[in-house]
Amino acid sequence: MGKPTGFKEYQRETVPYRDPMLRLNDYAEIYTDPLENHLQTQGARCMDCGVPFCQSDTGCPVDNLIPEWNDLVYHSRWHDALDLLHKTNNFPEFTGRVCPAPCEGSCVLGVNSPPVTIKNIENSIIDRGFEEGWVKPQIPTSESGQSVAIIGSGPAGIAAAQQLRRAGHKVSVYERADRIGGLLMYGIPNMKLDKGVIDRRIDQLRSEGVKFFTNTHIGKTEDFPAGHVNRIMQDADLKISYIDPNDLSQQFDAVLWATGATKPRDLPIPGRELKGIHFAMDFLTRNTKSLLDSKLQDDRYISAKGKNVIVIGGGDTGTDCIGTSLRHGCKTLVNFELLPEPPLERALDNPWPQWPKIFRVDYGHQEATERNGKDPREYCILSKEFISDGKGNLTGIKTVNVEWTKDDSGRFQMHEIEGSEKEWKADLITLALGFLGPEQTAIDMMGLEHDQRSNIKAAYGEFTTNIEGVFAAGDCRRGQSLVVWAINEGRNAAKAIDKYLRNGHEIT
Ligand SMILES: Cc1cc2nc3c(=O)[nH]c(=O)nc-3n(C[C@H](O)[C@H](O)[C@H](O)COP(=O)(O)OP(=O)(O)OC[C@H]3O[C@@H](n4cnc5c(N)ncnc54)[C@H](O)[C@@H]3O)c2cc1C
Ligand code: SF4
Repeated sequence: MGKPTGFKEYQRETVPYRDPMLRLNDYAEIYTDPLENHLQTQGARCMDCGVPFCQSDTGCPVDNLIPEWNDLVYHSRWHDALDLLHKTNNFPEFTGRVCPAPCEGSCVLGVNSPPVTIKNIENSIIDRGFEEGWVKPQIPTSESGQSVAIIGSGPAGIAAAQQLRRAGHKVSVYERADRIGGLLMYGIPNMKLDKGVIDRRIDQLRSEGVKFFTNTHIGKTEDFPAGHVNRIMQDADLKISYIDPNDLSQQFDAVLWATGATKPRDLPIPGRELKGIHFAMDFLTRNTKSLLDSKLQDDRYISAKGKNVIVIGGGDTGTDCIGTSLRHGCKTLVNFELLPEPPLERALDNPWPQWPKIFRVDYGHQEATERNGKDPREYCILSKEFISDGKGNLTGIKTVNVEWTKDDSGRFQMHEIEGSEKEWKADLITLALGFLGPEQTAIDMMGLEHDQRSNIKAAYGEFTTNIEGVFAAGDCRRGQSLVVWAINEGRNAAKAIDKYLRNGHEIT
């Protein structure tokens, strides 16, 4: 414990984001660089708890050794802190930037004062590691002679790839998009996670010997719907190769599915076919692809410039649509939420150390408030019908307000409020309504069983499917989740695969 009285002496101070009005002019990351003494002071707030809830079941999913590296940062032992961080997390530069930080929600300081700024400290350790050149490839010292195919290059796939390669197995990662990274690359926008941050980590994996195959779809040729990543790649004149998943089973000693939960939830209300309504992922993926390919000069993205934009749905995806629309220069911006506004403080039925379900202002909300003088979120709004100009184009949407009351069994029920019908102007609507599990075609080609929520059936901890030698991890197994959970699953699936390949002898 760095300073026994630190938590009494110092207030929580997060590392500020860049000025919202300035950062709206570019796609550079929103973060600023903290001073070393700022981080040491914040690290000194850690109480080195006997039971560190930051690492508990409700805390960090990858079991980061948080009190230990808080102490090392306080004592300026950055290299040691980095080594400790890498013991539990392959990619702290991703979680340090985008994780909602369940560790902070569970931090014991949070019982009666603001928690330790764990996420800022994590990010600073890894950024310093890259700046100092301490992050080096770890090439395996011996080869096992076994091979693994990984389908999908999101955080689950690449965490598994790195662990398996370091254990001496030959690893090939197949990705249908043209760039590696899954939703880290084509989902989370540049301002939240610069794509150079992903590329430098992929360079490390390549140097360690992981083989990557992009534009390679495991499954069969289909007429992919609008918003599908294959359609976006085809629109960009990229040729996609197709491989039957059963061929992978024959060529490799083990196969890991890490294909994510990519099936978007739709909003099938009248007028859904109108021009101007897009899945959030279509909007976000096209934007990042165009930004990386041509700095948005190729006209291959959906522009919000000068438009009245409505984002339906909240969460990270909704926020990213807000941040992107503002950067395009949208005219107006509204964000519909079906649920009520969360409370400012934890409700009685949401005590510490649970994840606090409270009102938060994310980067996109802050930017919209600065630019437009008003938070863009409208709560308890139910979308009823998209409005057409009579020529197939979207001009607006009809909504009604709802209220939520508990029924006799204590479950919340939604009721429409009579007389609250309203029409909103809109030329562009993005649907950020979450995801319904993995796409099924390729999974069915292999005969993999699904669970009740249509995810690939594989028990957590074992990650084995109904087919021997075939494993599943990440969002395609657990459903739509978080980057930190994908890393957890990728690492643990790698452990299970390694054990399988070594006939039950665990060495990783
Ligand atoms: C817009 C958005 C913002 C988000 N923001 C955050 C955030 O701020 N913080 C956070 O923690 N989480 C966030 N998430 C969630 C997080 O990104 C996911 O939980 C995480 O990426 C899941 O990792 P994964 O490896 O399981 O799958 P994914 O990242 O979805 O990767 C799956 C990969 O598999 C590929 N694939 C699928 N099928 C095939 C096939 N048949 N053949 C070849 N390749 C295939 C896909 O193209 C994709 O690249 C966000 C999600 C979205 C959509
Ligand atoms: S719970 Fe908070 S104060 Fe306690 S060890 Fe973890 S970070 Fe430090």
